[in-house]
Amino acid sequence: MYKYFLALGSNLGNKIDNIDVAIKKLKDANCEILKIAPFYKTKPLVPFKRKDCFYDFFYNTAIEIETKNSPFELLKIAQQIEIDIGRPKNHGHWTSRVIDIDILYCAKNNKSIIVDSNELTIPHKELFNRAFVLDPLSQISPNLVIQDKNILTESKKNAEHQAAKMMIVNVNNNSFSEDGILDKNKIDKKIEYLTKNRVAFIDIGAESTNPRSNPISWQEEIDRLKQVDIFTIIDKYKTNGVKFSIDTYHPETADFAINNGFDIINDVNGFKDKRMWQIIKKYPNVEAVIMHSLQPNGKKTNVISKDEDVLEILNNWVKDMEKQVLDEKIDKNRIIIDYGIGFGKTAEQDLFIVKNFNKIDNCNFRVLIGHSRKSFLNLICKLNENNRDKVTKQISEILIKNGVDILRLHSFL
Ligand code: ADP
Ligand code: MG
Repeated sequence: MYKYFLALGSNLGNKIDNIDVAIKKLKDANCEILKIAPFYKTKPLVPFKRKDCFYDFFYNTAIEIETKNSPFELLKIAQQIEIDIGRPKNHGHWTSRVIDIDILYCAKNNKSIIVDSNELTIPHKELFNRAFVLDPLSQISPNLVIQDKNILTESKKNAEHQAAKMMIVNVNNNSFSEDGILDKNKIDKKIEYLTKNRVAFIDIGAESTNPRSNPISWQEEIDRLKQVDIFTIIDKYKTNGVKFSIDTYHPETADFAINNGFDIINDVNGFKDKRMWQIIKKYPNVEAVIMHSLQPNGKKTNVISKDEDVLEILNNWVKDMEKQVLDEKIDKNRIIIDYGIGFGKTAEQDLFIVKNFNKIDNCNFRVLIGHSRKSFLNLICKLNENNRDKVTKQISEILIKNGVDILRLHSFL
């Protein structure tokens, strides 16, 4: 059996559909689809100024597959799929395309296969030059090493690097940014919209960790999720490249949610409850966001003192987390770390972390930052929660330049 990573892209016609069809056709050609990365909207690569051509934006993703097909057999299959979807046979370089399927990397028995011929080069020659390949690949196999280079590290270095978006859906009526919804139909519409746009992650939480709200029990939390039919909705909209995460610190809720279709556990308690480790071990395909916070339930009563070095505290926390992950024998690719902006830090510390998070050794974990609409933004401009999307976006741009992998956001803006 061979294992491959492939890149797929489209910038003509119904781009998202074309990628979906290509994945389906690969499946039909005896390729088992192991992982599908988020879809990224990317700028076309234009090598020289061609005034006669209009290049529309691309959707790009990456997939991991397993198959009996050898590299040359797979190239033939991919080229036939390109033709079937409508790509002309003699397709010039640097032209728009309904679909492009490139073989990035191949391994057999965990050993990298090298192909170097006129027709086919593996690993793909341009792999390290293209953010539209590195970014999606870094979400499904961050610690893949090709030609001594780590994919996650390389993705951050690229000038065109983008962060995947995790969009927030609050199933409550006391969320701090007042965007909580308890109406089934509204939730359905919001999730339909987000999946249609193929956002990378949809983060659903029933309990507000807003400093002004009270904790609820896991029973209440599950009841609230059931009341709005969240599990039916997720089932209805599950689609390529989109992952659903459950925002909870209750192991009972996490277990129930995963059992009913969620893909990721997002825990503001940072896996302090040992039962969380058992759950992630029970479901080998599940990923987890582990957040730094000083106290249970994301409460803000206790903050890092002003004279402590917050970067050093976070550095030590990541190192500890890496040790725990390795001790528990969990694949590091499944873990995302979150420095917990607004949780147990002063506003000044929050802003400092946002500006300096790239100085923390991420130990090759993907890094998520959740700065959206949070109160530290008052240090930059004094506006209430609902008017902070513009400043959120300004900070997002800095974070992306500094190599953040995932941004947790209230608004697309
Ligand atoms: P690009 O994908 O770089 O935009 P094209 O898809 O137009 O370029 O070029 C396709 C050609 O690239 C094919 O003729 C194919 O034989 C060759 N090729 C070389 N290496 C690979 C690879 N790893 N994956 C896919 N095609 C490859
Ligand atoms: Mg190609």
